Amino acid sequence: MMNAADIEALVRPNIQQLCPYSTARDEFSGRLGVFLDANESPYPTGWNRYPDPRQKELKARIAPIKGVNAENIFLGNGSDEAIDLVFRVFCTPGEDNVVAMSPSYGMYEVAADINDVKVKHVQLRDDFSLPVEELLAACDGHTKAIFLCSPNNPSGNAIPNETVFEILDRFHGIVVVDEAYIDFCSVPSLLPAIWRFPNLIVLQTFSKARGMAALRLGMAFSQPYIIRLMSMVKYPYNINESTQRLALKALEKPIDREVAEIVAQRIRLVHKFLKFTCIRRIFPSEANFLLVKVDDADALYSHLISDGIIVRNRTKVPGCKDCLRITVGLPEENDKLLLSLERYEKESHIRR
Ligand SMILES: *Cc1c(COP(=O)(O)O)cnc(C)c1O
Repeated sequence: MMNAADIEALVRPNIQQLCPYSTARDEFSGRLGVFLDANESPYPTGWNRYPDPRQKELKARIAPIKGVNAENIFLGNGSDEAIDLVFRVFCTPGEDNVVAMSPSYGMYEVAADINDVKVKHVQLRDDFSLPVEELLAACDGHTKAIFLCSPNNPSGNAIPNETVFEILDRFHGIVVVDEAYIDFCSVPSLLPAIWRFPNLIVLQTFSKARGMAALRLGMAFSQPYIIRLMSMVKYPYNINESTQRLALKALEKPIDREVAEIVAQRIRLVHKFLKFTCIRRIFPSEANFLLVKVDDADALYSHLISDGIIVRNRTKVPGCKDCLRITVGLPEENDKLLLSLERYEKESHIRR
């Protein structure tokens, strides 16, 4: 188990010493003032004032929903910003490295490359389960963070919580658990574990179950010290005013019905997929997509495109040969997918 000093020692020296940008409005928290500090236009357009750089109102609304305090929440321009900040806060370019599972979400590597930080990939097993000993063995003295994704994109499986606890215990660096698909998942979120593990960062997003991908709003949950570091390094106005307002509004509405419908449709698709001979394997999914191994991913991908159906061809990803990742859509969209698959089967039958 790590203590506060261990976490502090992980932070890049330049970030430990950073004096962040501050706004005059940080010193005045009232609503009704005469704001002559930020060179904004005084004429009300609805958008003439800079947004709240600390997103106080939005965090206050999110906190009780997630069972945390506002000081445990970082809000980013998508989870992608939080991912980038993990590198900028903890990883010295050209020196430190991170460990990530493979296959997994592509942004960890892109963010690492941009920050000139090495990624050591640990290949998941054939069933996409996580080889914990290999993962820990890949870590060295310069490994600042491990990126886990659960449920994992593109495989769809979740990592058992016990496995993550073991990694949190044994790895003396930051453990990021990306829970972008947690709303569709039967394994409970690791969010409550931030009270126990000072090295845990849990990522969630408004982009998937919440249905607000266009707004760009991601969340990171962790202990207050880590949240303060990320907030210090971010752009001051990283969440624009319209996003803050629209997210507040969106949180008034529950998403249980849509989530239940997507999970039901996912189960329906699995049952329908079983009868297609072109689908060789359906990987169990805890997310809003299915990864399937097919006879010829490129051929089926092109066939679906010709029917106006776009899926994600993952055949070039290590461990995903001939795999397509298919997002669960509306019932009628899934019907179209199934019809197109039927046509593909008939045509390939004729070809043979
Ligand atoms: C879609 C997705 C995200 C979401 O990223 P945003 O920047 O919040 O839209 C994060 N992680 C994974 C694994 C994803 O698949």
